[in-house]
Amino acid sequence: MAGLYEGGNEPPGSLKANTMDNELEDEDVDQWLITSARNPSTYVCQVFIENPQRKEDEMEQPQKKESETEQRMQCLQSQDNRCKHCYNEVETLAHDLGSCPHGEGLRNARHHQVRSIIATTLKDADYNTYEEVHGLSVTGSTRRIDIIAFKESTRSGFIIDTTVRFETNEEQPAEVDTEKKNIYNPTIPYYLQKYQLEELEVIGLVVGARGTAILFMKDVFKRLGIPTSIIPIVTLAALKGSIALLKHHLYSK
Ligand SMILES: [Zn+2]
Repeated sequence: MAGLYEGGNEPPGSLKANTMDNELEDEDVDQWLITSARNPSTYVCQVFIENPQRKEDEMEQPQKKESETEQRMQCLQSQDNRCKHCYNEVETLAHDLGSCPHGEGLRNARHHQVRSIIATTLKDADYNTYEEVHGLSVTGSTRRIDIIAFKESTRSGFIIDTTVRFETNEEQPAEVDTEKKNIYNPTIPYYLQKYQLEELEVIGLVVGARGTAILFMKDVFKRLGIPTSIIPIVTLAALKGSIALLKHHLYSK
């Protein structure tokens, strides 16, 4: 019997190739196997029955695998990498989770789930809370807000628009907040009148598509006076929705 030792630091009790020969005692082999089982990730060791041709084949295997990998890479590079469902964009995780029309229904479901958790929490905090309310902007166009929540006592409150986005940069939460303010600020006069309120503020709240918890969300929940303990519930809902989206994207036609 002969052996080949490859890679890594040699673990205690292992046998070097040049010591593995026909004179190996059974107890040596047993000890080596026990040590191998205890340290499976520290090294790679292959034992060959003495057969010159087989040994040669086995030793050539790594080179063969490398060649196959190269072939696969060349194949992938030569293929069209546009989305297999819509063909509109390069197929990336951001596309799959954020914009591919193939996942529109599940994307809406993910958004509704996140919105519902926040709305329910606002109700529990004694806000008058309404979801998906249609309104008019000062220019006359119609817009639908996610949530309007206000306190009966102060006649003031918030228009909250939640959005699940693929995380891009640290400024994203502030950018989304500004984006939503630009869209919904023109509707404030309509809702002030509709609900006979004194004051409203628009908040755009981004939730990471990959379940990222952000400081901005914590600050918003503190301002709203709702428990920040719902942050993991909100982010997990977004992540679960994204996983469902990805599964649908990968395995459905
Ligand atoms: Zn697509």
